[in-house]
Amino acid sequence: MSDQTSLRRLPAVSRLLEHPLLQALRSEFPPTAIAEAVRTVLQAARQRLRQGEAIDAARCDAEDLARQAAEHLQQMARPSLRTVINATGVVLHTNLGRAPLSEAAAQAAYAAARHYVNLEIDLDSGQRSHRQDHVRAALRRISGAESATVVNNCAAATILTLRGVAAGKEVIVSRGQLIEIGGSFRIPEIMAVSGAILREVGTTNITRLSDYERAIGPNTAALMRIHTSNYRIRGFTRQVSIAELVALGRRYNLVVIDDIGSGLAAELNDPGWSDEPTLRGSIAAGADLVLCSGDKLLGGPQAGIILGRSNWIQRLERDPLMRAVRPDKITLAALLATLGHYVDPTRAVTQVPVLAALTMDINCLRERSLRFVDRLRSRHLPADVTIGDDITYAGGGSLPDVPIPTITIAIRPRTMTEAALAARLRTGTPPVVARVADGSLRIDLRTVFPEQEAALADALSNALTGSALNDPPLTDRPMPTVPPPGSGIPAAPPDDDAAEP
Ligand SMILES: *Cc1c(COP(=O)(O)O)cnc(C)c1O
Repeated sequence: MSDQTSLRRLPAVSRLLEHPLLQALRSEFPPTAIAEAVRTVLQAARQRLRQGEAIDAARCDAEDLARQAAEHLQQMARPSLRTVINATGVVLHTNLGRAPLSEAAAQAAYAAARHYVNLEIDLDSGQRSHRQDHVRAALRRISGAESATVVNNCAAATILTLRGVAAGKEVIVSRGQLIEIGGSFRIPEIMAVSGAILREVGTTNITRLSDYERAIGPNTAALMRIHTSNYRIRGFTRQVSIAELVALGRRYNLVVIDDIGSGLAAELNDPGWSDEPTLRGSIAAGADLVLCSGDKLLGGPQAGIILGRSNWIQRLERDPLMRAVRPDKITLAALLATLGHYVDPTRAVTQVPVLAALTMDINCLRERSLRFVDRLRSRHLPADVTIGDDITYAGGGSLPDVPIPTITIAIRPRTMTEAALAARLRTGTPPVVARVADGSLRIDLRTVFPEQEAALADALSNALTGSALNDPPLTDRPMPTVPPPGSGIPAAPPDDDAAEP
């Protein structure tokens, strides 16, 4: 049959609109949206026929087309921001929204979102109060700081702090610490935006206390340490400790700012974490102002936390910019509940999902993975499924050189490429993000919540056995990957807002 004949056999828009499947959707969707969907699927069908597909293979009868139009409508109505299953094993995946909240924190956020709250009213006196008071006390308790305040993220915390302390004045920073965190957080640019003048000292690998001291002049306002969150300089290196910087700052009457980034507040005995600065450690060392993120190792909502001396915190809170970067009630509620887990810092490890995922017992993870493999094998899917030791990373610009031994399930599809399988999983319901390495799709249950396992198994079944008709176009964009184990490639774990995946 010529394609002209096939094309003529396609049902008309008006006929499709009368199909019961689409009639039933009239209560949910406006007629214009339904007509639009019908035109879209007809267009696609015409294209398939022109490309030479036979009319039966091209699924072009009224029934098929109506069903496709209904699916298209549902898809268009779906919000673009959705929950996904993170099967990458990267715990703080910036592109997947960093830290998932604890149940308590999520409930607190929900309650605050759904109701009125005493955000800025003192319930005892009826007087106006300050939104920061709610988290200030908790932050003081877990860090030992005199005072604290919270802003939108750590980037905002850095800008606000540098403006308040050093606008028009010099801030001395080691050349080894001029970091770029993804999403265009670069220290020289942040410094410029804040109005402070960056005074670089030392070299990339070596900065001595004398380098800082020699750079101090009449226009110096502060000494700043920036945690090299997402990279490490190895070999012949030397950096000045925060305690040494504090001692120098005291002698010259300079403010010492410590941007610790990842916000570790738990006490962990893991030697791999011993280099990671903590809120309490930095305050105890005497830093005047300590900055960190809320949604990295702290495991809370996106936020920027500023800890330190009361006089400085008060001054920063008076800056008109504070009004532009202040947190909302939902963030504050989630953060307050997260901080509640740290009242007992050893228990935080089990209660904060990010810490629980990072410190998960490998044998438990192996057991869980074995059970999951059994579950997949019992479905007789067209794929080889194996389990093996692997390596993952914290991600999100934290612990870049701490490889975390993990277990992954390798899936080698027999009827499609692993990239096609990954694409189907991403565009399925629920979307699943996994990584691709060495010719297989890798699933790491470390970042999959147990209650998501059934949905993950179904998603894998659907992706491996479903039809190719609705496949997304394969793009060249690589999936988020960490170096394959034994590749010898130094860790460049996914971190950045920009480059990841
Ligand atoms: C992550 C990080 C930032 C930026 O924090 P956001 O909360 O993402 O704005 C700043 N400084 C350091 C040292 C970091 O690790």
